[in-house]
Amino acid sequence: MVKSINTRDYHDWRLQFTSENSSIGFVPTMGALHQGHLYLVQQAKRQCSQVVVSIFVNPRQFNDANDLESYPVQLEEDLALLSNEGIDIVLVPSIHEIYPVDDTSSLDMSSYAHIAQGLEGDHRPGHFQGVVDVVSRLLTIVKPQKLYLGKKDYQQLKVLEAMVRKEKFALDVIGVPTERAYSGLALSSRNALLSEDGRARASRIYEALQCAKAVALHGDSAEIACAKGKAVLQSAEGVKEEYFLIANRHTMSVNEVGSPKEWVVFCAAHVEGVRLIDNVEVFD
Ligand code: AMP
Repeated sequence: MVKSINTRDYHDWRLQFTSENSSIGFVPTMGALHQGHLYLVQQAKRQCSQVVVSIFVNPRQFNDANDLESYPVQLEEDLALLSNEGIDIVLVPSIHEIYPVDDTSSLDMSSYAHIAQGLEGDHRPGHFQGVVDVVSRLLTIVKPQKLYLGKKDYQQLKVLEAMVRKEKFALDVIGVPTERAYSGLALSSRNALLSEDGRARASRIYEALQCAKAVALHGDSAEIACAKGKAVLQSAEGVKEEYFLIANRHTMSVNEVGSPKEWVVFCAAHVEGVRLIDNVEVFD
């Protein structure tokens, strides 16, 4: 039976495990779970003796108050889904367990700030600061040996890999491929805010990414690949482009993209007022 616990109960539960008798896999989420999250959970279950999932909607990573306000919350359904996956422990911390009133500190990101610039970093100021703050605090509580993150949030994965190295957390970061609907639309908690028609329109984002990828694989430049992909996106009714770019998979630089083997195509777009992001690696 799945149990949702707070930080203090988690500490008690965690005491029974050492690195000799266990491997703890950790899947941090903001809830409103879907098959993409469950795919991370399944991978963690295959590789770890215990899997801990956290559900915490992190206010620090929302740069838009309306976005935070409308973020879907469905704890009971989430717990039922995790129970079906055989998860026993779900950490559901309160806001003050993560951000005590007397601790307003933020992590120093200066040594990897370049990875957090551009793309989401430019379009959502303060977002990655909020992400590293919450994940570092969660890691200190959970003390996992493996951290599971989705490639759906590719830049987040790279920023968190850098944070884990810098802060010397002794754990492996596992990047998990993006789970998609049959139409190609990347699964996302935000898809729940779309109508059926909106979800159909949003699948053109993947089509545009795939077009850019095909052009890149054909041997064209990043500029040409981007232009062709953008054209697909711009022809999609009801889809408003925010950015469509190729960046280097290690540095996230859009100016020095390196060789095509290192290219990732990124897109942020709005459908029915919902902000969606997606990406594809040119060579996966
Ligand atoms: P979120 O609840 O949106 O913060 O996501 C929690 C984790 O699930 C993050 O590591 C995401 O990258 C990952 N994730 C979200 N959507 C997908 C997806 N469609 N496929 C794989 N991983 C995903």
